[in-house]
Amino acid sequence: MEYIKLNNGVEMPMLGYGVYQISQQECERCVEDALSVGYRSIDTAQAYNNEEAVGRAIAKSGIARRDLFLTTKVWISNAGYEKTKQSVSVSLDKLQTDYIDLLLIHQPFGDVYGSWRAMEELLAAGRVRAIGVSNFQPDRLVDLVLNNKVSPAVNQLETHPFCQQKETQTLLQSYGIQLESWAPFAEGRNQLFNNALLKEIGNKYGKTVGQVVLRWLIERKVVVIPKSVHKERMAENFNVFDFRLSAQEMEKIALLDQGKSLFLDHRDPQTVKWLCHLH
Ligand code: NAP
Repeated sequence: MEYIKLNNGVEMPMLGYGVYQISQQECERCVEDALSVGYRSIDTAQAYNNEEAVGRAIAKSGIARRDLFLTTKVWISNAGYEKTKQSVSVSLDKLQTDYIDLLLIHQPFGDVYGSWRAMEELLAAGRVRAIGVSNFQPDRLVDLVLNNKVSPAVNQLETHPFCQQKETQTLLQSYGIQLESWAPFAEGRNQLFNNALLKEIGNKYGKTVGQVVLRWLIERKVVVIPKSVHKERMAENFNVFDFRLSAQEMEKIALLDQGKSLFLDHRDPQTVKWLCHLH
């Protein structure tokens, strides 16, 4: 496994396993499979409603806690100082652990400043090892950085071949903030798994489109957390450390960028309304 050092010295695996849209029923088996394949970093969230299943799988695995890297996220309904503290305490119970490796604000809405103060305190108290954000567009991120003591370690954003976040990554790097990709495969949208260029590059190395995409992100120093409920795909997605893409191939993939989300616009009032009423 390759690791990246976050801005507070904590080491994070470059590749983890995401559990969005996996039901409570299926999630325990999925995380068990992922751990048996070799994943040690798991990305969940209060809003995914499967933290308990993640906790059960981890407890059963017998893997030492220090060898795991657990991420969870505070949902909008838990924004604010008090609710963040309370909800993180619930998350810790569900995950059956006494610390979280990376705690993120899931969405840039509600009282994120109150949340951040709570998270700074949780960090100081050792309940979390690193704190960060998700879905913060550059303006919201810079505002948060400039007006708080602790800078986010990570910003988790939609990042895949059709939405590459190149300028945003440069901005994040200037503040020492790690870019983490959500939906590295764009959840298969835009025919990603049938893309001719990605297939052609994969054929050269005996690799699949999924493996090429993950390798491309890792070579860009973007942390990835692909999701699959299928064990053979989990293994496929994990097997990306034995080849490298050429500079030319990286440049060709760069041309697939459409420069915008395939999912949602966090600046659209309708999106804000929808997300704020979701849970
Ligand atoms: P994704 O990882 O881009 O794509 C998952 C989809 O690709 C599933 O339909 C999966 O199908 C399929 N797939 C996986 N590996 C494959 C392979 N090797 N070949 C063919 N198909 C494959 O989407 P995602 O789950 O949205 O994103 C990954 C993680 O990012 C999430 O699980 C979550 O942890 C995080 N996330 C965060 C946010 C946020 O707001 N912070 C938003 C979205 C996601 P099967 O499962 O059927 O194999």
